[in-house]
Amino acid sequence: QGDSKDVDETVKSICPFCGVGCQVSLKIKNGKVRAVEGINGPANEGRLCVKGRFGFDYIHHPHRLTTPLIRREGAPKGLNVDPANPMTHFREATWDEALDMVANSFKSLSAASDGRAIAGFGSAKCSNEEAYLFQKLIRQGFGHNNVDHCTRLCHASSVAALMENVGSGAVTATFNQIEHADVAIVIGSNPVENHPVAATYFKQFAKRGGKLIVMDPRGVGLRRHATHMLQFKPGADVAMLNAIMNVIVEEGLYDQTYIEKFTENWEAEKAHLAKFTPEAMAPICGIPADQLRAAARTFAGGKAGMIFWGMGVSQHIHGTDNSRCLISLALMTGNIGKPGAGLHPLRGQNNVQGASDAGLIPMFLPDYQPVTDDAVRGTFSRLWNSGDFSGEKGLTVTEILDAVHAGSIKGMYILGENPAMSDPDVTHARHALSKLDCLVVQDIFLTETANYADVILPAAAFYEKNGTVTNTNRQVQMGRAAVAPPGEAREDWLIITQLARRLGLDWDYTHPGQIYTEMAKGMKSLANITWERLENEGAVTYPSLSPTDPGQPIVFAEGFPRAGGRAKFTPASIISPNELPDADFPFVMTTGRQLEHWHTGSMTRRSHVLDTVEPEANCSIHPATLHRLGVLPGGSVRLVSRRGAITIMARADRAVAENMVFVPFAYVEAAANVLTNPAVDPYGKIPEFKFAAVRIERAQEQ
Ligand code: SF4
Repeated sequence: QGDSKDVDETVKSICPFCGVGCQVSLKIKNGKVRAVEGINGPANEGRLCVKGRFGFDYIHHPHRLTTPLIRREGAPKGLNVDPANPMTHFREATWDEALDMVANSFKSLSAASDGRAIAGFGSAKCSNEEAYLFQKLIRQGFGHNNVDHCTRLCHASSVAALMENVGSGAVTATFNQIEHADVAIVIGSNPVENHPVAATYFKQFAKRGGKLIVMDPRGVGLRRHATHMLQFKPGADVAMLNAIMNVIVEEGLYDQTYIEKFTENWEAEKAHLAKFTPEAMAPICGIPADQLRAAARTFAGGKAGMIFWGMGVSQHIHGTDNSRCLISLALMTGNIGKPGAGLHPLRGQNNVQGASDAGLIPMFLPDYQPVTDDAVRGTFSRLWNSGDFSGEKGLTVTEILDAVHAGSIKGMYILGENPAMSDPDVTHARHALSKLDCLVVQDIFLTETANYADVILPAAAFYEKNGTVTNTNRQVQMGRAAVAPPGEAREDWLIITQLARRLGLDWDYTHPGQIYTEMAKGMKSLANITWERLENEGAVTYPSLSPTDPGQPIVFAEGFPRAGGRAKFTPASIISPNELPDADFPFVMTTGRQLEHWHTGSMTRRSHVLDTVEPEANCSIHPATLHRLGVLPGGSVRLVSRRGAITIMARADRAVAENMVFVPFAYVEAAANVLTNPAVDPYGKIPEFKFAAVRIERAQEQ
């Protein structure tokens, strides 16, 4: 990649990939980003991973969308558009023509349905200001709350459990607090690949003698640094965690003083845990009783402990129960509200925390204020100088696509999301997209979802715009435009504003700073954090207690934002995964990301270095299983579930149990989500991406 010395200018911004939120210095030459270096941000202290350092050239890729496109009359919808030559299915349009067409379609669909026929998917890749504007557009423009984004596929169940039991959906401590911990649990997370810079802090913690307990059905990379590696059976989280808590109760290792001062429902939790003995749970979770006891003693024996978790915890039909267990474990050991202690669901996308905070969810307005609360809606109606909107919770991501099939949603505005790749049972999702009367896709590339669009609006990439993002640590950070968008592509906030005006809304934003200031008026969490501060300081952690406070890395030292100020124990019982292996589908498939590729691959598969390192769709299978199937490592297998089949290259990987297969979901040519199960957790409405029953066959061509 480029020379970082021979540059015209440098611009500070934020890495656009994961929720760690590393600060970067962009080296610009002749109007293009030539190199990226890490700088001293609060989350990364100069560090970057391979994606942040080398995954930037997608923004200059020839496939970038540069002009609005309108589908040609009669052009078939489906995965049939060559991104290098979209004119076979689309024609170029002016911005006025495209925006007028969108506004007119939405207005007529809205008029016929009292606004209910329109839904929007916003993006955790856009700025806070853009997320705020998008949810405002759906609510103010159409009067309903049918707006959601990929948090539904990510940590919705974690947030449901945190809101219920702690009173706040964000982390209680920054991940960097691990430097003050002496024990830590990392469960259902593969930070070495998915949050690589955070993982460097975890490794350093282990290196200086911290006790690291890694729990995962896969032997994830962090196991090399673990004092305890619990490779439990997939879907058995509650059995394992309840057994560990049973030991803590039985051996009197809990923190009675903390429990009495800060919690409620302890006696019910204690009584519930009595039957989850290590001996009873060992056959269910696959971890011997003595190892469960050892892990329990290690965690409870620490002076300060942190718990980190990822999608392995949340993406189950019992994801909320999994998180409830982790919250209970932290509460009973007094591990919230002090240095080196806390609950930390590691956020995926760079701005999934901020987009959720900004109200890009169907049941909450900004700052998780319920749409069902008349007073809350009144506050926002006044802020927006508009009438009331529905107090009914809107539909979630998967519910919206079901409603398209049912015929009640007819128009969608999809900004920066790719449900044609990212949703469970993606064939069902693609079919829904093809049925819409009006699908508007706003993105930087002609994504798989854009293949189904009626109108495509070309957007600016992250390094082409100004705006704030909030990372997994609650750090609000300033992203800065370093280069101009290609052709006629525009910043998302500007496109949303121009569409809103055509829908009759009286919006006059001319700069994202105005949007931030309005948003902050409706969000107590942003008190003392002004746009000007962020421009000057680059990052402020919320909550910030004064105009000069850099923010609080640890919260809830004095109690919780719940009635009575106490956190709650919510007992969790064992619920089986929705679809268990059987004779026809004997393997468990789990899905996830890889170090080099980000989510549905639209950016990283167009990044030269990253795609060169990892160019081909692949899955990971234990070598003994491959041997039994007669497949050599590097050969092809056919994976079949009740929903479909894909053919994919198989890698031998001893970290995957013999009855499992791991499939990354970045590859359209072998899309993992053709196979996944759309069953959802009843609280977070998150699909069970981490458990589907599949069959593995030797592919024909071998
Ligand atoms: Fe970017 Fe995440 Fe890597 Fe940091 S750790 S450079 S934010 S992808």
